[in-house]
Amino acid sequence: MAASLLVGGALFDGVSEELAGRTEILVRDGAIAEVGRSVQRPADADVIDLSGRTVSPGFIDTHVHLTMDASDLARQTLASTAAKALKGLSLAREYLGYGFTTLRDLGSMDPEFPTVDLRNALNAGLMLGPRLIVAAHIISASAGHGDLRGFYAPRWDLPVSALADSVAEIRRLVRREHAFGSDWIKTANAGGYFSVGDDPARPTWFDDEMEALCSTAKLLGMPVAVHTGAADACKQAIRFGARSLEHAYLIDEEAVDMATGRDTFIVPTMQMTQEDLGELQAGTLPCQAIWKFSRDNKQIVESQRLVAASDASVAFGTDCGMFPFSHGILEFQAMVDAGLSPLRALMAGTSVAARLLARDDIGVIKAGACADIVAMPGNPLDDIAATAQVDFVMRAGEVYRQPAVAVRRPRDRPAG
Ligand SMILES: [Zn+2]
Repeated sequence: MAASLLVGGALFDGVSEELAGRTEILVRDGAIAEVGRSVQRPADADVIDLSGRTVSPGFIDTHVHLTMDASDLARQTLASTAAKALKGLSLAREYLGYGFTTLRDLGSMDPEFPTVDLRNALNAGLMLGPRLIVAAHIISASAGHGDLRGFYAPRWDLPVSALADSVAEIRRLVRREHAFGSDWIKTANAGGYFSVGDDPARPTWFDDEMEALCSTAKLLGMPVAVHTGAADACKQAIRFGARSLEHAYLIDEEAVDMATGRDTFIVPTMQMTQEDLGELQAGTLPCQAIWKFSRDNKQIVESQRLVAASDASVAFGTDCGMFPFSHGILEFQAMVDAGLSPLRALMAGTSVAARLLARDDIGVIKAGACADIVAMPGNPLDDIAATAQVDFVMRAGEVYRQPAVAVRRPRDRPAG
């Protein structure tokens, strides 16, 4: 792969509290070779002029569902595995255009493993797309958030949910995820808002069930992400060693302190929840969600404020798939609206998300890191909305999207 030299007007490196000024980044073989005010200029390097822009590590969304479509979940779930994977590929590439170079997919509703296939195809370089890290299914109790049977008539017997109701069944499902290629274990230990017949304010695993899930995952070396709601469920997930709390809709101060103390990450999916609360106001929610959001809406906003005001490790995650992928980039603004500083929101979507994923080669601009690089006009620390204006996307050294600026190829340069 030829080398590229990026010339940025300013740099957010993923970790520093202030932007650096004009910066040059030399990219070679998919990785960042050198970063500085002035770096070596190999003769074979394309020069990419991003001088009017802020350069940042590629964004990381740690909570998406590429193979789920909440706009018609019950019907869409019945589509073939291949149909879901192909649609997911299209969505992944579309989302890359917004600057998301790494995604953690937290579950498909399918008897097979479409997101594992998708990850493997992208890793094999069949097509340029974001890096995927996947939990193939949502392991759930019967009558829990991952039990989709409530959408269908009782005689239907659809193998789309990964359900378990005993310690032995839970261990079997965790081992199955590992055997077929999941990177993470995803579970739900409280109900959800759009699922039928469960309640976010109630835990759905007994302690021995949650312990069995987490200890089996640990045995296999797999981190656990937990869809959670009720404060008691948040605490249960933290106690048994979950690496991330997803949504944490109804988290209380004690649970936020526990998460902070044990460095359990919180992925608060704020934009989606704000949109859901907007739909509650507008009267456009489906019936199974109305009573839950009507009861919980004030508590949800209060919980978001608690998370924003804490020192907890907050990682960027949207739940796209449950709402449109075109809205995912707005999570940065939703985080700032909830009280996070722009710097903390940006770190949530870069270096903190990378730490959640235990990857020190992404979410940061430094020599040796993957060349996952985006650029946007403006200064995102002054106005976080700049994140929605990304117009340059590089994934592992390959340019996926770029503004209409001159890219000078070596052959274009005057000799001498
Ligand atoms: Zn989700």
